[in-house]
Amino acid sequence: MTDLEAKWERRLQRERAARKEAEKLLEDKSEELWELNQSLASRVAERTRELEEALAQAEQANRAKDVFLSTMSHEVRTPLNAILGFAQLLEMRRESLGELAGFVDNIQVAGKSLLNLVNSILDITKLESGRQDVELQRFDANSLVSSVLTQSQVLAQQKGIELVTEQSGVAELYGDVQLLTQAVLNLVVNAIKFSPEQGVVTLTLAAAGDQVAIAVRDNGIGIARDKLDELFKPFSQVHDRSQLSVGGTGLGLAIVKSIVEGLHGGRIEVTSELGSGSEFRLFLPTSPSQVS
Ligand code: ADP
Repeated sequence: MTDLEAKWERRLQRERAARKEAEKLLEDKSEELWELNQSLASRVAERTRELEEALAQAEQANRAKDVFLSTMSHEVRTPLNAILGFAQLLEMRRESLGELAGFVDNIQVAGKSLLNLVNSILDITKLESGRQDVELQRFDANSLVSSVLTQSQVLAQQKGIELVTEQSGVAELYGDVQLLTQAVLNLVVNAIKFSPEQGVVTLTLAAAGDQVAIAVRDNGIGIARDKLDELFKPFSQVHDRSQLSVGGTGLGLAIVKSIVEGLHGGRIEVTSELGSGSEFRLFLPTSPSQVS
């Protein structure tokens, strides 16, 4: 072997050794990577299992809460109706009650507000658990407005509030008449409740693209901008009740949102200024394809 050949031979051997070393390194690394991959996959599977379990537990707790609330509300409603019934009988014999007549008034006021709370809890529980019966159909939006006006007239008169309607054209709605009427009525009752005596509440009905917009405007106490997000959460009351002489459960707007957005694929918007008044707008479906 010549010197040159020997040199090439050494070089070749060095390269072979280097390649072998590189191959070994690669093999080790791939093995390490494979092991890492395996442990990662098993950790992901374990974590997924844990999350699925937690989700199932949360769903079960939520179902238990719904069942508890609706059973409790039903159980409370029966004796409460009996108490109110007897209070009404006493009311009919008011003259013979003398100075005790005032007690009957108190029983009736407290009983009615408790019944109101129980009914609202039942409503929101049914809506949020998906157990609400819904009867979808086409109907005249004007008849909804008339029905809301009829049902809120007495309350408005008691405060000397003028109820004004603005309707542009006849509009047809698609949805559950009773539930949508309840949603608009809740807004009108709030508008009356949070307005000063002799205020004005305006109910507007207008087409809004392929939807119908129903707006309820008042010139009442208004809502601070930073409280607007809280309005639709159950039990949220954004004003200091010790300063107001109005009752309520804090469930009315949560019920409106559930009916409009949850059941009808609609939308609710609010603009308000503290001290000047508020406007709540509902965008409602006019055809089956808009109800999600
Ligand atoms: P409530 O039974 O207390 O009226 P709602 O869910 O209907 O419950 O309303 C939640 C809160 O939002 C009310 O307590 C009130 O603070 C505020 N609010 C609702 N509507 C109006 C309005 N038109 N003007 C001013 N504040 C309002």
